Amino acid sequence: MTDRLSAQRYDVIIMGGGLAGLCLALQLRKSLPALDILIVERRRHPVAAATHKVGESTVEIAANYFDTVLGLKDHLVSKQLKKFGFRFFFSDGREDVDRVTEIGASHYLSTPSYQLDRGIFENFLGEAVRRDGIDFRDDAIIRQFELRPGPDEHSITYQRGNEQHTATARWLIDATGRAELIKRRLGLGQENGHDANAVWFRIGARITIDEWSDDPAWRNRCTPPARWLSTNHLVGDGYWAWLIPLSSGSHSVGIVADSRIHPSTSLDSFEKVLTWLDKHQPRLARELRDKQDLLQDFKYLRSFSYGCKQIFSEDRWALSGESGVFLDPFYSPGSDFIAIANTYITDLIARDHSGQSIGALTRVYERFFNSFYESTLSLYKNQYTMFGNLAVFPLKIIWDYTYYWGILCQLFFQRKLTDIGALSSVSGELERCKALNFAMQAFLNDWSKVGNADNLPMMIDHASLDWFAELNRGLRDELDDVEFVQRIAASSKRLQMLALEMVTHAQSKHIELDSTGISRIIDATLSESDAASMLAWLPVPDRTQPRQSTGAHTLQ
Ligand SMILES: Cc1cc2nc3c(=O)[nH]c(=O)nc-3n(C[C@H](O)[C@H](O)[C@H](O)COP(=O)(O)OP(=O)(O)OC[C@H]3O[C@@H](n4cnc5c(N)ncnc54)[C@H](O)[C@@H]3O)c2cc1C
Repeated sequence: MTDRLSAQRYDVIIMGGGLAGLCLALQLRKSLPALDILIVERRRHPVAAATHKVGESTVEIAANYFDTVLGLKDHLVSKQLKKFGFRFFFSDGREDVDRVTEIGASHYLSTPSYQLDRGIFENFLGEAVRRDGIDFRDDAIIRQFELRPGPDEHSITYQRGNEQHTATARWLIDATGRAELIKRRLGLGQENGHDANAVWFRIGARITIDEWSDDPAWRNRCTPPARWLSTNHLVGDGYWAWLIPLSSGSHSVGIVADSRIHPSTSLDSFEKVLTWLDKHQPRLARELRDKQDLLQDFKYLRSFSYGCKQIFSEDRWALSGESGVFLDPFYSPGSDFIAIANTYITDLIARDHSGQSIGALTRVYERFFNSFYESTLSLYKNQYTMFGNLAVFPLKIIWDYTYYWGILCQLFFQRKLTDIGALSSVSGELERCKALNFAMQAFLNDWSKVGNADNLPMMIDHASLDWFAELNRGLRDELDDVEFVQRIAASSKRLQMLALEMVTHAQSKHIELDSTGISRIIDATLSESDAASMLAWLPVPDRTQPRQSTGAHTLQ
């Protein structure tokens, strides 16, 4: 039991001062300057650059959270790297990356995102919270905690050096990452059926993918000719390898694989990784062998994906970051989920602080959070088998981004996550889009089992796809309530037209593909001709010969 008489009192205690905990403290400070906040973090600061943690590539929600919501743009621009978007190479088994299909943008799209050196970032955040008057105790470990429903305060006991401290607070936040203190105590863990493993390490040098070819035409296909600033994905059946540059000068390398296709035992040491890469990504293997004396760390994580039965409680506790859910790093959504959870937690604490009852709201926010989680899970679960498929994968990327930028990002960028009125006014369209996304993921998966395309030496350039680049630009529009409703309606229509066109394209080769689930969701007044232009750029036809059909076909 904690000695409550000698305990120090706070309004909020955050267990764990990693990315989620430190960002939450800054967000709370901005929203409620008078709050007394304690963060207890096991690691001693400053932490090591480069090798501190994974979670280095950000996408648009997280980037907007860091640079605008938390106001950290100066740090991001001056001390981290501006990310040159995502880039994918179908380079399985190939040395010649300049002769394979590349997917990415030939120049920067307009909404920024960043590559984070997590050590540099967390050191900066640690200093920022202290400057903001937050009691940040590093090198301190939580030994006990008690959750108290009702009016009593929660309490913790933590150890710093030889000293034991107790503290109490009205709110207790678990941001301890995979230590999952509250989740384990309350048995909230939830499997999600997505079984993949990851291995990662850092090399103390740049891996400049641009130098993997001498061909000036290939090198200059991108402006600037600096593909190394992208999150580069080298993809193949059942896996992808990442290359992420860090501002400390190191490069982060990782492999994520479906355990059914690439068993964990094939990747659990650096030597095995090199042998595996010799077969699957030989150009990267060669680069790593040349630089292996610069290896800085090596980590392996089995079955990294999981859900959680509850994130927010009316008993004034909540989970943020990996102490709650983690899905998959493929589209780098980890920091997005921190941004979303922290925004809900900040709102709940603010309402509670002002004396409002939060019972019903915690359940509504739980539902919204879960909806983000399920939508995002569907992008990954059972989808790794299509990662080497040239006919389907390029379209899946277009689909996934159109859903992410058109729907999920809109809710965050327009600050609607906690605006129940605005969310109610678009709930029908949101439900339709969510259902359509599930149906499309299943359809793409079916298609990948019957169709494929040739690995042609070319670039599928996202920057030259006008509507797609505009979708990215439009993220930063400031919309009023009416415009927000119009934006969601337009995004929904765009998704439906895209679905229609993708299905038509797939069925022109594979008439047997069943699209009944999709056509039930699509507005019956939309016709194939409405959708005729979005994929007009499509340079990779499914190489499968069209099947003989008995006549014209339409969406069933
Ligand atoms: C393979 C892989 C790749 C990923 N890639 C990306 C990516 O590219 N982009 C992205 O956005 N996300 C990515 N993620 C997710 C990202 O790593 C997480 O979202 C993020 O690191 C979670 O931050 P957090 O604060 O929840 O946890 P952490 O950063 O782990 O922080 C938890 C903190 O709690 C402290 N702690 C634990 N127990 C105690 C205790 N008893 N007492 C005191 N302190 C304690 C720890 O010391 C730690 O600092 C990836 C994840 C994996 C597994």
